[in-house]
Amino acid sequence: MAEIIRIDRQTWRIEDGMVRFFVLEGDEKALMIDSGMNTPDAVKYAKELSDKPLEMLNTHADRDHISGNGAFEKIYMSSNEEANYRAAGGKGEIIPIKDGDIIDLGNRPLEIIDIPGHTPGSVAILDINNRVLISGDSVQDGTIFMFGEFRDIHSYIESMKKLETYKDRFDAIFPSHGSLPVNKDLIGKLAGGAEEIAAGRVKGEERDMFGNKVMCYQFPYASFLGT
Ligand SMILES: [Zn+2]
Repeated sequence: MAEIIRIDRQTWRIEDGMVRFFVLEGDEKALMIDSGMNTPDAVKYAKELSDKPLEMLNTHADRDHISGNGAFEKIYMSSNEEANYRAAGGKGEIIPIKDGDIIDLGNRPLEIIDIPGHTPGSVAILDINNRVLISGDSVQDGTIFMFGEFRDIHSYIESMKKLETYKDRFDAIFPSHGSLPVNKDLIGKLAGGAEEIAAGRVKGEERDMFGNKVMCYQFPYASFLGT
C-alpha cells in the first residue's frame, strides 16, 4: 500500500516503499511523474488527488519507476530512454521530450532538462514557478546505480556540471529515493564523487547485487554502485 503525502496545494509525493513518485496539478491538467515499483494501480492514486486530465511522464525507465505505466497509452519520455524502457518491459507510445521543452499544466510550466548518465534518457524536471527540481535517481542522497547496461559515468559527470548552471532557478530538489528535499549543494558533491570514481581515485567495496558483483563507492553524502 503506497502512502500519499501532500507537499503543497497542487503537489503530492507517493511513497511505495522502494521509490517515490509525484503528482503535480496545474489549472488545466495533472501530471504523474514516474509510477513506482510496486504500484501497478498508481493511476488510481493520482485520480483521487486531481480531477484534471492526467498525463504521464518518466524521469527515466528503470524498473522501479514504471510499475503503473500500463494505465497510459502515451508517456512523455526522452527518446534516448526507449531502449531501456522496452528492455524493462515498458509498453505504450512514447511522446518524446528533450532539453528545453516546456510542458505547461496550466499556469504551471515544467521545463525538461536532459541529464544522461544514470540512464541514457534521464531527465530532470524544473517546476519553474515553484522553484523545485524533480531529479529522478540522478541527484539523491541514497544509492545511485551506475553499473550495467545503459549507464555512463562520464555523461553523468557532465550532466551534474550542467545542472549546476541551473542552480539559481530552484531552491529545493525532490529526488526519487533517499531524503526529500535535498540541498542543491549535493549536485556539485555528486559530480566530484563521480569524477573520483571515473579517475580510479577511490576504493570501492565489492557487493553482490542481483547476482552481479558490483563495487560500492561510499561518500558522506551518497553512494554509487559501479563496476
Ligand atoms: Zn530508482
